[in-house]
Amino acid sequence: MTHLRTRFYQAVLLRIFITPCLAAAAPQGKLQRDYNVTPVPFSHVHVKDGFWTPRLETSRTVTIPYAFTQCEETGRISNFEKAAGLKEGKHEGASFNDSDVYKIMEGAAYSLQVHPDAKMREYLDRLIRVVGAAQWEDGYLFTHYSAPQRQPDKLWTNIAWVHEQYCVGHMYEAAVAHYEVTGDKTFLDIAKKNADLICRVFKPQGRTDPPGHQEIEIGLCKLYRVTGDEKYLDQAKFFLDQRGRLGHRGPDGHGGLYGTYGQDHIPVVKQTEAVGHSVRAAYQYTGMADVAALTGNMDYVNAIDTIWNDVVSKKLYITGGIGAAGGHEGFGGPYELPNMTAYCETCASIANILWNHRMFLMRGDAKYIDVLERTMYNAALSGISLEGDRFFYPNVLQSIGQHQRSPWFGCACCPSNVARFIPSIPGFAYAAKAEDVYVNLFLGSHVTLDTPGTRLRLIQETRYPWDGQVKIRVEPEQTARFAVNVRIPGWARNEPVPSDLYAFLHEIPEKATLRINGQLVPLQMDKGYARLERSWKQGDTIELDLPMPVRRVISHDKITSNEGKVALQRGPLIYCLEGPDNDGQVLDLVIRDDAEVRTQFQTDLLGGVVTISGGAETARRTLDGRIVPDAKRHFVAIPYYAWAHRGRGQMTVWPARVPEGARPKPADTLTYLSKTTASFVHVSLDAIKDQNVPTDSADSSNLQLDFWPHKGTTEWVQFEWDEPHRISSVKVYWFDDTGRGACHLPKAWRVLYQDADGRFQPVNSRGTYPTEKDKFNKVEFDPVTTPAIKLEIDLQEKWSAGIQEVVIE
Ligand SMILES: [Zn+2]
Repeated sequence: MTHLRTRFYQAVLLRIFITPCLAAAAPQGKLQRDYNVTPVPFSHVHVKDGFWTPRLETSRTVTIPYAFTQCEETGRISNFEKAAGLKEGKHEGASFNDSDVYKIMEGAAYSLQVHPDAKMREYLDRLIRVVGAAQWEDGYLFTHYSAPQRQPDKLWTNIAWVHEQYCVGHMYEAAVAHYEVTGDKTFLDIAKKNADLICRVFKPQGRTDPPGHQEIEIGLCKLYRVTGDEKYLDQAKFFLDQRGRLGHRGPDGHGGLYGTYGQDHIPVVKQTEAVGHSVRAAYQYTGMADVAALTGNMDYVNAIDTIWNDVVSKKLYITGGIGAAGGHEGFGGPYELPNMTAYCETCASIANILWNHRMFLMRGDAKYIDVLERTMYNAALSGISLEGDRFFYPNVLQSIGQHQRSPWFGCACCPSNVARFIPSIPGFAYAAKAEDVYVNLFLGSHVTLDTPGTRLRLIQETRYPWDGQVKIRVEPEQTARFAVNVRIPGWARNEPVPSDLYAFLHEIPEKATLRINGQLVPLQMDKGYARLERSWKQGDTIELDLPMPVRRVISHDKITSNEGKVALQRGPLIYCLEGPDNDGQVLDLVIRDDAEVRTQFQTDLLGGVVTISGGAETARRTLDGRIVPDAKRHFVAIPYYAWAHRGRGQMTVWPARVPEGARPKPADTLTYLSKTTASFVHVSLDAIKDQNVPTDSADSSNLQLDFWPHKGTTEWVQFEWDEPHRISSVKVYWFDDTGRGACHLPKAWRVLYQDADGRFQPVNSRGTYPTEKDKFNKVEFDPVTTPAIKLEIDLQEKWSAGIQEVVIE
């Protein structure tokens, strides 16, 4: 273990240039430049914590072995065996499935570092031998083109979508982790051989098209750090600089090969907004930060600074998730943050954390850790079940029961990403720069750090995130002057996020306080830290008290999906209301601004959580379409990360604060009371009678019925009642997502009614059938008394269509 830790430590020390204290101890300072601030690797952070220790243990004992088993059962491992000629048969599954295996291998290496485990080590080493055997003589390694036989004519023919480079990027990360943990170069040599091939193929005089999915840039920077070989760093920069340059037309009309979807619309240094596929994007920004740190490239820094501001001020969910739209798994427009259809892919949360950690290392500013912490405790942690073997791909902020975690996915990027992410969490907690040490995250742990004057140990005790008391014992080997920077989280400074995207409804009088050896000290704030510079001696103790009252969060006015709504936050945790604690109904609840709330730690609930409860009222709809207060009710909220463990049901992160913000059960209208059927259902049939009027035809935040992938067909929707009703008009609000999806306004439509013989006849309409966007299209007809109404809809040729809402009167 000592040996392993030393090897790891040396590797980490290689990264250091601007931290003279640590560099002095380095065996050889190969790198000329790197991040200003040096993270303390997770392997040096010994965690003993009520919240995180069980999660790290679950990751090691459940998630990682479970994920390997899934890879075995889904052919992901046997793809390597087939590629190596150890087994017969065709490649199975998606072309990019190799990446999942590599990510879990990376997680397994991290886990071994902290907890040596002979069985896991043996498994990993066997897998590395198979991976090595699957590698071609020239270094090529990608099972999709290697089984059942090698297809040399296929290599690099579809880098846009098969993701050879994305896969090997993850392989480099896994290989570096394995080398750092074990000191064994077997896997690292495989990675280098492959990277050497990539460098030979993709170069100014060779292939210049950029990778279809960013990631290899991060892997190449890691390879550079452990080998000191500059060609890997140059290659990372080369790949980044190829984006947006080819002058081709992308599918969305922009330049480059992949358009805005693949951040290939303009050169990376000219990019100012977060666009397109959010995992690709955030990996790109992470890679740009790495290359900037390693080369001093200020153009990269300026670009990612601007993009970071764009995300934090316009595109960040309160949970820290990014990516609003499922259609392209990516960013929506400014302030476009729908709740029920939120994408917030688990991978995107992890990528957002990696990016923000790099931004912190560049700047030493706590605002990046504020975003990291928010994302980690909420959007990312929601991605995995408490038991460690169920996963969310999208992490929505509102549900009517259609969401639950899955055991695995055909595209398993998220579970495998979680498998490597959880063991790495302690690595975000501490950092150092010359005489400054940083305490970023609050978790029970001890850590050894170096400053110019002395080596020191920090011992942290806390019950965070359940309470805000943090005790840090400072134990320098000898008395020395240095600064302990204790992060005062934004949420404890009346700033939920470092922008005006969200605000606390009320300022609170309680302020964070700090004591050294029992004496209150003033908070000298510097970039979000209380900087405690003094001569520290053995046994000095810092006591931080972060008051944790329940905070109400409101959104920027432009986030229309959160109008009239409030979120509850306590400490770093965002809360949600879920059916099981609230008689099944949460979307009709209204929590008034002055409602009293209480908190309680409940040991036996969801692994032990603090709940928030208080007085609420219900809202109901009237027949004329208003939403009015109804009865008094009690509400209970749980931490968002813990939702979806007790069956399907309603959930919301943003309950209403006024009746108009609620989404009550529909009133008993004719449409609502009908038995409704359709020729075909995509998304939701109930959505057309839920009485939620959309903001416009493209609004998918409250779901819709559409007929995709049917195109050019005639479809129908039917409404039936037990007894006949007299009906004289129908109003339809069409769904149309032109520009994003395949639904257009229909070519034509008509209303039929069921006659006494049970046959459907056209009604005698008193005008034309309008088809206009963004409003109800009403048709009036001679009254009919009928037990059933049917809408027939002719779709435009080559297009689908959809319905937001139907009103029958
Ligand atoms: Zn994913």
